[in-house]
Amino acid sequence: MTIPYGRQTISEADVQAVADVLRSDFLTQGPVVPAFESAIANYCGARHALAVNSATSALHIACLALKVGIGDVVWTTPITFVASANCAVYCGADVDFVDIDPATYNMSVERLEEKLIQAEVAGKLPKVVIPVHLCGQPCEMEAIHALSQKYGFSIIEDASHAIGGRYKGEPIGNCRYSDITVFSFHPVKIITTGEGGMVLTNDVKLASHMERLRSHGITRDPSQMTKTPDGPWYYQQIELGFNYRMTDIQAALGLSQLKNLDKFVARRHVLADSYNELLKDCAVTTPWQHKDGYSGLHLYVIRLHLDPIKVRHREVFERLRVAGIGVNLHYIPVYRQPFYERRGYNPDDFPAAEKYYSEAISLPMYPELTESQQKEIVHRLITPIGHQTLF
Ligand SMILES: *Cc1c(COP(=O)(O)O)cnc(C)c1O
Repeated sequence: MTIPYGRQTISEADVQAVADVLRSDFLTQGPVVPAFESAIANYCGARHALAVNSATSALHIACLALKVGIGDVVWTTPITFVASANCAVYCGADVDFVDIDPATYNMSVERLEEKLIQAEVAGKLPKVVIPVHLCGQPCEMEAIHALSQKYGFSIIEDASHAIGGRYKGEPIGNCRYSDITVFSFHPVKIITTGEGGMVLTNDVKLASHMERLRSHGITRDPSQMTKTPDGPWYYQQIELGFNYRMTDIQAALGLSQLKNLDKFVARRHVLADSYNELLKDCAVTTPWQHKDGYSGLHLYVIRLHLDPIKVRHREVFERLRVAGIGVNLHYIPVYRQPFYERRGYNPDDFPAAEKYYSEAISLPMYPELTESQQKEIVHRLITPIGHQTLF
């Protein structure tokens, strides 16, 4: 049996919650989506939360609401899923990357500041910066926010990995240091709705704009219309939007999953502690934890110390896969994707991301993983067939 790198945990209560919606009057645009939205807003301490059909959609409407368009530049980290960059391209903007911090693997604040100084001279400051809380580990949001004040950019936190985590004692998603925060509810993430995402903000204008964008650019609010309504049927499309709505079926699953969120994250911490212990004498770097943060621990990424022993990253990876252990690599630097390569980036500009890519392996991490599976995983990692020890 293959152990995946991540998977959902579904309870009987989750199944029941979904079945209840299937037997109700509304499969979509009913009461459960707003109930899920307020539950997430309350949990995170944000004023507004809007459910959408994916974090990719969430990032798209977040960029649009922040007026990203042709001629603008958006910066993100190269070590992320492609969606963190694609959202800017959807809007016609250019994307650039800020190298990662070699210890945290998140966007480096030092590199960000250097790049801002250069960009100011060149007259090419970013409109929006998208820090990603990689693996659930919070970015240095206070420092990034201070830079946004100085250089005049907006911030979208891509918290796809990070729901349930905390930064400086407060929930990730409260948007204290950003304009908008985005969550993903894909099944490998911390809680799931099948497919789904959420945008959070404390700004009522951004919220109502994103609400319109997720539903065709249509409003039923007379104060947003160009004239008084023709009658009770009336609505207006006042801009080009999309159908990015979440269904009530999905929201019911999300609302039910949310009840277990703290338990899921606590379990991930137990598993991380157990990996840390099992790996303590191995030639690997275990994940650094932010002293001001509580990670959602979506991923448990180790880095192999390869230089002294001449074992290739790829061999270790393949050996684990052959043994039925679904290790993964999060992520291929986005600028190495052919779509982005064609847009002309130089890997030499991102030495920390390049080194990370040559050493990183995500070990399986999900609440139902067992301690005995972890022992098996670590055993396979350190003991190649026919040899005693690898490292
Ligand atoms: C998963 C993920 C996304 C996209 O989420 P979807 O809900 O699948 O669209 C975006 N950014 C990051 C960092 C992710 O891990």
